[in-house]
Amino acid sequence: MLDIAKIRDEYPILERQIEGRPLIYLDNAATSLTPTRVVNAVTDMYQHHKANVHRGVHTLSQEATDLVEGTREKVRQFIHAGSTEEVIFTRGTTEGINLVASSMGDSMSHGDEIILTVMEHHSNIVPWQLIGQRHRVRLRVVPISDDGVLDLNAYEDLFTENTRFVAFAHVSNVLATVNPAREMIEIAHRHGVPVLVDGAQAVPHHAIDVQALDADFYTLSSHKMYGPTGVGVLYGKKQLLSKMPPYQGGGEMIGRVTFDKTTFADLPFKFEAGTPDFVGIAALGTAIDYMAELGVERIAAHEHQLLDAATQGLMTIDGMHIFGTAQGKGAVVSFLVKDINSYDMGLLLDRLGIAVRTGHHCAQPLMDRYGVQGMVRASFAVYNTLDEVERFVEAVRRVAAMF
Ligand SMILES: *Cc1c(COP(=O)(O)O)cnc(C)c1O
Repeated sequence: MLDIAKIRDEYPILERQIEGRPLIYLDNAATSLTPTRVVNAVTDMYQHHKANVHRGVHTLSQEATDLVEGTREKVRQFIHAGSTEEVIFTRGTTEGINLVASSMGDSMSHGDEIILTVMEHHSNIVPWQLIGQRHRVRLRVVPISDDGVLDLNAYEDLFTENTRFVAFAHVSNVLATVNPAREMIEIAHRHGVPVLVDGAQAVPHHAIDVQALDADFYTLSSHKMYGPTGVGVLYGKKQLLSKMPPYQGGGEMIGRVTFDKTTFADLPFKFEAGTPDFVGIAALGTAIDYMAELGVERIAAHEHQLLDAATQGLMTIDGMHIFGTAQGKGAVVSFLVKDINSYDMGLLLDRLGIAVRTGHHCAQPLMDRYGVQGMVRASFAVYNTLDEVERFVEAVRRVAAMF
């Protein structure tokens, strides 16, 4: 069992009072809080190791390079990639998806099709739409059932000889549905189509093995997994990455530059133009050590206890509607009570010290699917407690009774 009280000691932000009440932070799917050891890793980098990476022969530059490359190896182990050549540092999931869409899009043309799902985050819709407009590529969308489960038969039926790419969230940021990634990838591969899995909501809560999934691309965001902001990872299979054109040009990503022609660096550097956020990358290494030390399975088990308590408690409130009730869902509960606007609920909960997400959650097509403007979302992390969940449920009950 995890010692949650001890874990909370590393989050001084949890000692804050909001409106005279202790903060209850339930907006973890937007960004997780950051433990002191990760903050210290950022500070330590600035205070003792700051030098640009991969350039200098001097000691500080070597140290910074070692920290960045050390994190690359930690990421490789954490997601079970075959090689560090397949681990590309980005600014986040959004940039990882844009990189793949932009680079793969170059080889797409009029009439080609890309399959997405209706539960995608805008960052796994808009990059494909931009490519789609440029190359006149059509988006096909996998529907869901009311409980938030993808229709796999419909998915399989969407494949045609024109399908060029599939992209979907491993775990929905709204419904918390854990999509059957392995099976969906296998179906796509049977049609000879590569797949990108958006792992932003999966990596903080599930042990990930990109090779077991056979994912062609997989993305994550550091700030959602106890790491610093501004850093993410794109995993890609070497045989695909090596054939793809660079996404951005600049320093670090070149082999030899003349005004006639430029050759590119080897993987993964071909896709890392410019100075990376080497401070953030170093601290991401600390966040990965932290998650490994706690144990992803233990984190998930604790969060599921919280989810079960929250779900059971909320269901006792008159007029409660929970969106996303798939078997084995992640630790997120999205809901509306009666016809109370999600912003009103969010504002009133804030008055009671409780931070939840309101609105469309960067998933407007999913809101349209359910015929709502927005939802209230509570999402859990390792430092949340059953006591907080009880206070949250009672606060929702109190707000609901006001309407
Ligand atoms: C947060 C999120 C993203 C975007 O991540 P950024 O860190 O903002 O780039 C994409 N997909 C899902 C499912 C998310 O939850």
